[in-house]
Amino acid sequence: IIEARDAHLAFGQTPALRGATLAVGDGEIVAVMGPSGSGKSTLLHCLAGILVPDRGEILFDGARVDRLDETRRSTLRRDRFGFVFQFGQLVPELTAEDNVALPLLLGGARRADAVRRARSWFARLGLDGLEQRRSGELSGGQAQRVALARALVAEPRVLFADEPTGALDSLTGEQVMDLMVDAARANGTTVVIVTHEARVAAYADRQVIVRDGRVHALAGARGAS
Ligand code: ATP
Ligand code: MG
Repeated sequence: IIEARDAHLAFGQTPALRGATLAVGDGEIVAVMGPSGSGKSTLLHCLAGILVPDRGEILFDGARVDRLDETRRSTLRRDRFGFVFQFGQLVPELTAEDNVALPLLLGGARRADAVRRARSWFARLGLDGLEQRRSGELSGGQAQRVALARALVAEPRVLFADEPTGALDSLTGEQVMDLMVDAARANGTTVVIVTHEARVAAYADRQVIVRDGRVHALAGARGAS
């Protein structure tokens, strides 16, 4: 469903990707591991159409994402992809509920529908009663669950997560991972998750390692189901 073929990308003189190739199948959950600075986030950003590689191809459902202009890539991101980052990046001025409704509103949904759909995620993610809080009034784990709800509310085909538990203690991180994986499996959502933590990567169907801008299969990892 989403694929990088021989992607190269340099930031000025710094090569970040040097021939990265990765194909993620429909409904598959892939963990991307590897040392700091190896190119994990850059690969995620290329797959998600945030960055365009200097060379190589990015494909979503067989279509060339790297050939789309920024407007079309941003439409693709809004309509088909969800994102969770290390720090939730909620809009601080908005309530939790409005943060979750935001992708639907940007997609043209009516406010009442957007809010109703947003609210259904609060129960699902154990966030009941927090709908009117602002991000400064949430714990780290709560804020990350709100960010997860926002990433999933528009039912994306692919969820991209970059160290989603990196700022959380291990118990809270596990709760967020459990919820993320359960929701993804229930909806058949494809997930690409960047993580340093082996414990987090264990949730995935398959693990890959990025080293020096290239992707390697993790020896001994079980295959995709
Ligand atoms: P980490 O685990 O620390 O998040 P990473 O594997 O995600 O690391 P990337 O962020 O993809 O690594 O960075 C790959 C290389 O590209 C690094 O050498 C980094 O310094 C460089 N780099 C990344 N983003 C930029 C940028 N915006 N400008 C310049 N160099 C960058
Ligand atoms: Mg990174």
